[in-house]
Amino acid sequence: MLCNGYDNWSSHLKSMIDNAGLGYILQKTSIQPCDTSCLKQRLSDIYKQNWNDNMQSNQKLRSYKRFKSNCTLEPYLCNTENLSARICLSRFRTSNHRLGIETGRHHNIPVHRRICKFCNSDAIDDESHLLVCQFHNNLRLEYNITNTDLVYLMTTGLNNNTVNYIYSCFRARGIT
Ligand SMILES: [Zn+2]
Repeated sequence: MLCNGYDNWSSHLKSMIDNAGLGYILQKTSIQPCDTSCLKQRLSDIYKQNWNDNMQSNQKLRSYKRFKSNCTLEPYLCNTENLSARICLSRFRTSNHRLGIETGRHHNIPVHRRICKFCNSDAIDDESHLLVCQFHNNLRLEYNITNTDLVYLMTTGLNNNTVNYIYSCFRARGIT
């Protein structure tokens, strides 16, 4: 939107406020604290709705959208001291890793042929399979992982132990 023929920060601000349905604020002679809190809440709601819409329509985030429901900072990002483990988990959660499901996509291999090369299950090598792959039986024992459900481990079961377990799985495969 142009303001006096210019595309600048004030024209962007006016456009943003209008799009939020709060253009009446700009018609006032003085802006009250309740106006700014209303605007802040409305812009936050719009951002979260767009965030969710974009995530749901993104095919690559097939796993992420199964367990990520709120646009909030994940505690593991602050609580995991091991930087490499933290990066590994972030990549795991967002499918930015080298499991077969992704490397196969890079080489145009059909999904049903992106199977795990570390066990004899013929399972598709994706995030859910990594958590149950027989190749990592010893690691599951070492870290006492009894519930291997992806959604559980990425939500209520996500703690330092889970992060270290998944990091160790990737290290065992040599694909950190
Ligand atoms: Zn496997």
